[in-house]
Amino acid sequence: MKVCKFGGSSVADGSQITKICDIVMADPERRIVVVSAPGKRFKDDVKVTDLLIECAGRRLSGKDTQEVFGLIIERYADIQKTLGLDPAVVEAIRANIAARLELDLSDPARFMDAMKAAGEDNAARIVAAAFRARGVRAEYVNPGDAGLLMTGEYGNATLLPESYERLAASLTGKDYLVIFPGFFGVTPEGHVATFPRGGSDITGSILAAAVKASVYENFTDVDAVYPVDPRLVPEVSIGIPEMTYREMRELSYAGFGVFQDEAIIPAVKAAIPINIRNTNRPEAPGTMIVHHRRARQGSVVGIASSDGFCTIYVDKYMMNREVGFGRRLLQILEEEGISYEHMPSGIDNVSVIIRAEGFTPEVEARVREHIVRDLQPDNVQIERGTALIMIVGEGLYYTPGMAAHATLALFREGISLDMINQGSSEISMMFGVQSAHREAAVRALYQAFFHS
Ligand code: ASP
Repeated sequence: MKVCKFGGSSVADGSQITKICDIVMADPERRIVVVSAPGKRFKDDVKVTDLLIECAGRRLSGKDTQEVFGLIIERYADIQKTLGLDPAVVEAIRANIAARLELDLSDPARFMDAMKAAGEDNAARIVAAAFRARGVRAEYVNPGDAGLLMTGEYGNATLLPESYERLAASLTGKDYLVIFPGFFGVTPEGHVATFPRGGSDITGSILAAAVKASVYENFTDVDAVYPVDPRLVPEVSIGIPEMTYREMRELSYAGFGVFQDEAIIPAVKAAIPINIRNTNRPEAPGTMIVHHRRARQGSVVGIASSDGFCTIYVDKYMMNREVGFGRRLLQILEEEGISYEHMPSGIDNVSVIIRAEGFTPEVEARVREHIVRDLQPDNVQIERGTALIMIVGEGLYYTPGMAAHATLALFREGISLDMINQGSSEISMMFGVQSAHREAAVRALYQAFFHS
């Protein structure tokens, strides 16, 4: 059995939903369909989830909700009309969202989640109706009824592990096509709670793990995962046919946005392959993400880059002999609630790389002051504007000369390196460069590893 998840652009309008029906009906193994809320139909369009957030916010602050409520209903009405469905489906959706607006406001985060979940919940109802109109026995399944239980951290909830057994029991062996809304579940007390944004990917991954699917097909709007960001290297045309879970993890850490990073975990634990595919071009095989693959020695699967890091550089003669230096340095960051990303070190110096987001000039001043007071270094330097570049591939494993190849390519472009981190992960190399050099560095490395 295959679990298929369709993202927001795949349910954005009636013609997209027709494609979903065609895809699912083409393969009898596709038995569970997870849907997102309708996304953008064109560049400046607004996602239904964003409209719902706006609507909930207005309700919470006592403002008029009528206009935005109307826009939400219009999105579903548009789908109903394009597909020629019974108008009753839109009336049910209108009543559903209107009832949510009347929920208790005493816990604003809980209220917000109940509203946010309406996007997926009603998308699943209308998609089920679309399948039935095509003669397919399809049923909307409510995540709460099916046993998808969540913690009560509204907006950032996580799955309760007992859900797997319950979901397996309620979703296997059904003689109808299951249409399941993504993004939310219920708390043990019965309140709706959502995953972080983009969380329908997580739902799909959980269901695939629960029913031990042969594959988790994640349908989006690109043919494949590309080895480099096509916005930086427009000539990239060949997608990655196959990659391992850990390659995906490393690439998504540094900015590969195709797949919600957290989403991969349930499928990985259950060893279920993930297939990223295109709703608009279902004939393309997409990218397969698997447990193991045979990689050619020295081959790179992808190059990712991410901006917005800071480097805290601390220098102290004889640091290597000072017991507890690293711990105390990290403790200073811990006290500020900062998690560190990387920590390359020398004999008398260490750099700690952190995310710039939230590291305000005030926090920076406090961190600097603590370091000077508690560690008495010879020098502390804090630099902003660091970008990280990752070269990833199982083929890097024990292959000599890869770092030389990369650094030579950067040297030829006149790009100086602030940091190299290699060895901890056998399948990646990481370089720190100034943000201004990020794009040129990615292009140079792409040329070096994919075109030479
Ligand atoms: N609709 C939700 C969002 O926009 C979840 C999802 O699409 O996966 O974040």
